[in-house]
Amino acid sequence: MFEKILIANRGEIALRIQRACRELGIKTVAVYSEADRETKYVKLADEAVCIGPAASAGSYLNMPAIISAAEVTDAQAIHPGYGFLSENADFAERVESSGFVFIGPKADTIRLMGDKISAKETMKTAGVPCVPGFDGALPDGLKDVASIAKRIGYPVIIKAAGGGGGRGMRVVHTEAALPGAVTMTKTEAQTAFGNPTVYMEKYLENPRHVEIQILSDRYGNAVYLGERDCSMQRRHQKIIEEAPAPLIPPRQIARISERCAEACRKIGYRGAGTFEFLYENGAFYFIEMNTRVQVEHPVTEAITGIDIVQEQIRVAAGERLRLRQRDVTVHGHAIECRINAEDPYTFTPFPGKIEFYHPPGGPGIRVDSHIYQGYTVPPYYDSMIAKVIAHGDTREQAIRRMRIALSEMGVGGIKTNIPLHQELMQDARFIEGGTSIHYLEQRLADKGEVKG
Ligand code: ADP
Repeated sequence: MFEKILIANRGEIALRIQRACRELGIKTVAVYSEADRETKYVKLADEAVCIGPAASAGSYLNMPAIISAAEVTDAQAIHPGYGFLSENADFAERVESSGFVFIGPKADTIRLMGDKISAKETMKTAGVPCVPGFDGALPDGLKDVASIAKRIGYPVIIKAAGGGGGRGMRVVHTEAALPGAVTMTKTEAQTAFGNPTVYMEKYLENPRHVEIQILSDRYGNAVYLGERDCSMQRRHQKIIEEAPAPLIPPRQIARISERCAEACRKIGYRGAGTFEFLYENGAFYFIEMNTRVQVEHPVTEAITGIDIVQEQIRVAAGERLRLRQRDVTVHGHAIECRINAEDPYTFTPFPGKIEFYHPPGGPGIRVDSHIYQGYTVPPYYDSMIAKVIAHGDTREQAIRRMRIALSEMGVGGIKTNIPLHQELMQDARFIEGGTSIHYLEQRLADKGEVKG
């Protein structure tokens, strides 16, 4: 096992990884930007190194600074968390060529899955069903693009091959709108991801987002830890996740999960990974794979009792998976609410000083957060400040516990989306279960609440 790990991330996930390391008896190195200098999790780490200015380009995305921090502190491995460099194949390669272990899959695997076109191709070959569309990058000629769209059938969605974070996508309903949409998505893709390649698939009009969590080791063993439903989204970004996914037959989930585990064995996948699917009219369609730990991993941890971050570390250290599929059992239901520092209805970020903080607690409640009273939420990063996870024997109990938790939680001095979560926990359609990815935005629009 490693003796010391450098955590190349910030915020709640930096603290989450630190806790996993401490439980495994591993020393931790925190890296931080000038904006995160005073945070408590940085002080809790065994060592801490400043890697640059507030802007992430100079700090959390600064590969040489992170690798030198590992060198000066004698860390053996680097955990990238999620976001930032976690799915950057060049970073994984540089980490390993500098003599450290990258806690995640091999650089080649990240590259393969990081390009959504090659990811879809790989999954198709491995027998995983994909969203219907055109296999490959869109050609330059507009006539060809138009005939592809016609063949797929409108509406279609144009997506950046290198996209992520819900950006770089455009829905097209008519042939007239096609040329402009393609040009704009390409330009955006080039600016945001440094890669203008775009592809096209059928736009599913009423799907749910359901994903499968996998763990694999380097010896060809892979198990699935069940599914998560992440359909409650705004701007293609998740805000509530739950496990299991309501109203989907467990046998169907097991079948698709086994395909995912088999795909992992085939491509020599190593570590934790998530297969994301759209689920519509009783069928699964692969959209992409995330080769890292996900924000919503705690709901799976709650129902399986498996510490995903610790397993990631064990596998990276060369251990064999300790679990066989029959060892994975699901207990009850878990829901996660992402608490963001933002206006609950316009989603405009609201950074600032937290004047008052009271975290919830009680049976079945877990709070993953790095914030505290007096902490200033910096304007430079993602607006998520906490995750509240409620676990119960049933979905109803998990919802009841979440309502209590949200009513106890107090965050003063900044705006948060707690009021929106409170409304959703009382929403009849949510309580029924199985709402689509468009439900939240439609609901806000119906209420005249969307301004942004
Ligand atoms: P990202 O990597 O940016 O998260 P994804 O490919 O995972 O991009 O898609 C993010 C979200 O965009 C999905 O959860 C879904 O809401 C929407 N989406 C993506 N592809 C489609 C599609 N073919 N039809 C309908 N919605 C889609």
